[in-house]
Amino acid sequence: MDEILIEDLEVFAHHGVFEFEKEKGQKFLVSCHLFLSLEKAGRQDDLRLSVSYAEVADLICKEMQAQSYDLIEAAAEHLCKCILNTYEQIQEVHLELKKPEAPLPQKFGSVSVKLQRKRHHAFIALGANEGDAESQIRSAVERLKYRDDTVVLAMSELIESTPYGGVEQDNFVNGALEIETYLEPFALLEELHALEKEFGRVRHVHWGPRTLDLDILFYDDLILNTETLTIPHQDMANRDFVLNPLLEIAPWLRHPITGKSIAQMATEVKEKHVC
Ligand code: ADP
Ligand code: MG
Repeated sequence: MDEILIEDLEVFAHHGVFEFEKEKGQKFLVSCHLFLSLEKAGRQDDLRLSVSYAEVADLICKEMQAQSYDLIEAAAEHLCKCILNTYEQIQEVHLELKKPEAPLPQKFGSVSVKLQRKRHHAFIALGANEGDAESQIRSAVERLKYRDDTVVLAMSELIESTPYGGVEQDNFVNGALEIETYLEPFALLEELHALEKEFGRVRHVHWGPRTLDLDILFYDDLILNTETLTIPHQDMANRDFVLNPLLEIAPWLRHPITGKSIAQMATEVKEKHVC
């Protein structure tokens, strides 16, 4: 992909863990690579089809000075989010934040952090069968909408389904969500678990009752198999209460391992249940 580059933009700001750093301030240098298509702007020689590096430089200065962080990690994270949230054409940002006057006793050139953030496309399964299941699910989706690192692109209708996995319990409310997020897979799982906890989820019986269950179904074309996270979701091909809501918002989506579309998978699970 094409890139716009800004190197060593100088900004005076007040970041640092020490009080004197927050009071006095110091020089920071910001470099960023913005990944987007420049083909149309180049062909038509029109700034409106590109992103103005002057505007981005202003945005970086304004946001660096708007508040003071302990860590350059946090300041850099904030800058990446602001850039991606301001310019929807930018697909990915690589950003380095240098602190050449950091309070170190040794002689040094500069210390810095480097981040890479990009737009990811994910699908989340929604479920609940304890408390007011529907309103818990809807409130959790509202909470996701308010995040500055995630956009809710589509939500299915909520459906009622019978419990799965052999535990005697109330019927479930289920749905599916399509999101765009800058969170990496494990960070997304952590944030979903935090949300489950906020809505009163206590993990006692496996496949047992829950006030809220948020599972990652797909994350780009990622195939991941670890102890705590499996993507695509391991058991989705057998779950009609996952596939039917997904069918409503993304029938074209293909499973990156089997190559089957959601429409195909939903038909297959239906046939299995009829047999
Ligand atoms: P389930 O959703 O299968 O009914 P839980 O919500 O209790 O069960 O999840 C159990 C564990 O599954 C979680 O602690 C999590 O680490 C793990 N897990 C593995 N892959 C995923 C995924 N894609 N989405 C959500 N959790 C996952
Ligand atoms: Mg779960």
